[in-house]
Amino acid sequence: MEKNLLKEIQQLEKTARKLEASGTERADWIRLSANFAARFIDSLPEEPAYKAAPPPGGFRDLPLPEKGRKMEEALDFLQEQLLSTGLNPASGGHLGYIPGGGIYTTALGDYLAAITNAYAGISFAGPGAVRLENSLLRWMCDMVGYPQTALGNLTSGGSIANLIAITTAREAKDLSCLDIPRSTIYLTEQAHHSIQKALNIAGLKEATLRYIPMDEQFRMSPQALQEQIIADQKAGLRPFLLIAATGTTDTGAVDPLNELADIAQAYDLWFHLDAAYGGFFMLVDELQPLFNGIERTDSITIDPHKGLFLSYGLGAVLVKNVEALHKAHRYKANYMQDAVKTDLSLWDPAELSPELTKHFRGLRLWLSLQLNGLERFKAALREKHLLARYFYHKIAELGFETGPEPPLSVVLYRYLPEKGDANSFNRRLLKELHRDGRIFVSSTLINGIFWLRFAVLSFRTHLNQVNTFLEMIAQAKASLIDHKK
Ligand SMILES: *Cc1c(COP(=O)(O)O)cnc(C)c1O
Repeated sequence: MEKNLLKEIQQLEKTARKLEASGTERADWIRLSANFAARFIDSLPEEPAYKAAPPPGGFRDLPLPEKGRKMEEALDFLQEQLLSTGLNPASGGHLGYIPGGGIYTTALGDYLAAITNAYAGISFAGPGAVRLENSLLRWMCDMVGYPQTALGNLTSGGSIANLIAITTAREAKDLSCLDIPRSTIYLTEQAHHSIQKALNIAGLKEATLRYIPMDEQFRMSPQALQEQIIADQKAGLRPFLLIAATGTTDTGAVDPLNELADIAQAYDLWFHLDAAYGGFFMLVDELQPLFNGIERTDSITIDPHKGLFLSYGLGAVLVKNVEALHKAHRYKANYMQDAVKTDLSLWDPAELSPELTKHFRGLRLWLSLQLNGLERFKAALREKHLLARYFYHKIAELGFETGPEPPLSVVLYRYLPEKGDANSFNRRLLKELHRDGRIFVSSTLINGIFWLRFAVLSFRTHLNQVNTFLEMIAQAKASLIDHKK
């Protein structure tokens, strides 16, 4: 028995040990991956932003093998199945939705985080990792002017950040289930859909939602907000939460923070700001006035995978009073009894978020900021803003109707044909643009009006992509009009 057991263990060890890649395997795999990455990045300028056709031969799976495959085979599959079809979020021609990023240093940070597998959930286990993540949150808190009592959490994205903030608001205001139906939440029709999702998940589905009217620039009207709150109080409801945005996804609108903060303060509302898209434009001096009053909010969602051009997978929630965040996420577990905090200033991500074990996602941001320096980010953000303004003027010169002047980097525009329905004309125009695919833009529907959207936030978008798009749309418009004649 003893002998057989030992023999079997030794037998298994031979195969199991192979999970520790050999020096040769590591060198081969990293070289092949680096070559793949280089080819991908170098080909981006020639590649379209959008490809409608499915991969040659259609979509297929690569069965999971009993014995490992060659890296070459895996990479060929990725090239064919992952990169041949659909939207390319890494492309500088991605000007739809809110464009993604993918600066190189993100990958290196993730690589090092994965290799070290540092534990960023609890400071007892990973004081260095927790300290590093908290220092990044501190940097963001300083940027928005939050006091030393503030901290937050690095999340996978803005949706989870909004969920954490809304849960924190619920706990901070001591809402019991009986309070929910008469608790009122104020937002606009332009609130991102992740807010709705977060309210549902946080158990606030039965709360009373008030969609506050907006001005002609799609900003929440403080006056309308105040009137609604007064009416709600009279009706016996309990005003609870105000949700504003700096940079709505649809139109890029920036809500008037100081005026809203006055109201939140007067009526004791939790004031949450969704700055997932627009928050980092604060780093641009000339845009800072748009954010006046941001320090008066209670919580903020802000996405480094948008405004700091990182690859997908990094958002952040900032909470002015870290105790409130803690109240909503604290826990006690017997098997964690050894995890005593040695330094009380080292708040653990595990007690400030729903996660315990998590990706050491701060490293990608830390490395990106360290290697690039802030200057590059500031220049890129200012450039994107100016590109949006440039486009706004150029598209008007082409005879298009435009929405509001872009406060940040989203422009609404549409063509009003002499005859026929404007919505259907612009729908066809968008189809034509997608068929071309060199540059990808998207659309939105506001009060029944179909608008084309132009959103600059890819770090790879520069003047040449904007000019290419202006040519593309002039052509597409002309061909649609000709076609009609
Ligand atoms: C993108 C976005 C979100 C959602 O963030 P994810 O990172 O996609 O989860 C929330 N709010 C606004 C305003 C956004 O632009």
